[in-house]
Amino acid sequence: MNIAKMFGEKVVFSFEVFPPKKDSGIESIYSTIKDLKELNPDFISVTYGAGGSGAKNVDTAELCSLIKNEYGIETIAHLSCLYNTREMVDEILERLKDAKVDNILALRGDITPGLETQNDFQHASDLAEYIKSKDMGFHISGACYPEVHQEAEDMETDIENLKKKVDAGVDHLISQLFFNNDDFYWFYEQVQKAGINVPLEAGIMPVTNKSQIQRMVSMCGASIPIKLAKLLQRFGDDPIAMRDAGISYAIDQIINLVASGVDGIHIYTMNDPYVAKKITESVHNIIGSDNLKK
Ligand code: FAD
Repeated sequence: MNIAKMFGEKVVFSFEVFPPKKDSGIESIYSTIKDLKELNPDFISVTYGAGGSGAKNVDTAELCSLIKNEYGIETIAHLSCLYNTREMVDEILERLKDAKVDNILALRGDITPGLETQNDFQHASDLAEYIKSKDMGFHISGACYPEVHQEAEDMETDIENLKKKVDAGVDHLISQLFFNNDDFYWFYEQVQKAGINVPLEAGIMPVTNKSQIQRMVSMCGASIPIKLAKLLQRFGDDPIAMRDAGISYAIDQIINLVASGVDGIHIYTMNDPYVAKKITESVHNIIGSDNLKK
């Protein structure tokens, strides 16, 4: 099913997971997906590691297949292109096709020091165009950046490039995490002005761990509002208090986004079903869908 077709009548509510790390077993991901299924998300997306899909036992395509075919949940396979040749992409597309995975989040991928880039694709738009040209029936999503992509000159240029991505065939966008909804609203307005009319989901990362958030923020450049900085300062060294404060902050963000008419909410679950459950329980009436199983 085309994920973009889910939007319109309701606020789409989705999760993101990552394949288990190389040294961890696959049992944990089975139990994570089983728990997330109880929350009845509209879809679950699965990340793709730079230079390959990371895990020893289960990679992005396999995990998407499991989510779709064993758990009956729609899925999006992330696929980055900087470190892949056309042949490597072809192989992944065939595997996704065989697994009946219809949706791909076309990404450039982050630049990883020490890994040699390939020359077939420069930008996510090149990958989107290539996938479209294969005519294999895939629907393509893309990433966008409410606080501007770190390498972009300014928001105007970044949005011009986003338009190229949409023109290349992307029909659904998921935003980078952000902690200040005003950044998202301003970005959304500029996107609309640029004539980009595809559904745009807000990416929400519950801040449940101080060091994890410091790492994420240094990677993606998201700014920390004073309200969140205070939570980190007060509860950062108390894991349970920080988790609960972070969940509450994410819920506040979501309520405000839904009240403002957001197309969808994409939760970066960090493979933590407890956090996803607490958030879903608090917002499913607000979202107005059946996101908790009866
Ligand atoms: P692009 O769209 O190619 O943009 C990268 C930069 O190039 C931007 O500055 C943009 O303005 C510019 N640009 C874009 N198109 C053009 C063009 N045609 N001409 C000139 N300049 C252009 N990374 C992973 O490795 N695996 C994942 O699974 C993953 N999932 C993600 C999910 C989401 C929702 C998001 C927001 C990010 C994710 N990332 C992931 C991180 C992402 O790969 C990085 O942010 C990366 O730096 C940019 O990827 P992109 O697809 O947005 O790149």
